[in-house]
Amino acid sequence: MANKNAKHKKNVPGPWFCTDPDDENGEGCIACNVCYTGAPDFFAEDDNGNAYIKRQPISSSEKEICQEQLEACPVSAIGNDG
Ligand code: SF4
Repeated sequence: MANKNAKHKKNVPGPWFCTDPDDENGEGCIACNVCYTGAPDFFAEDDNGNAYIKRQPISSSEKEICQEQLEACPVSAIGNDG
């Protein structure tokens, strides 16, 4: 599960988040590019290639797209605490 105490600073406000790289559980983003390549409307990369949420999903289809990225992330660095 993504560490909600280590959210990336650039996440836009809302329930969905990405975690900082090297968070305390060792589960932070490893810049694998899966999420921001798969769902570029919602995920973006910072200067180091680490992901953050650039737009929160609203509709059920948008949430489904983000859920797919959450499940695809190899290090559980995407969370939803809504
Ligand atoms: S899928 Fe996970 S590890 Fe890969 S860029 Fe996105 S948050 Fe980072």
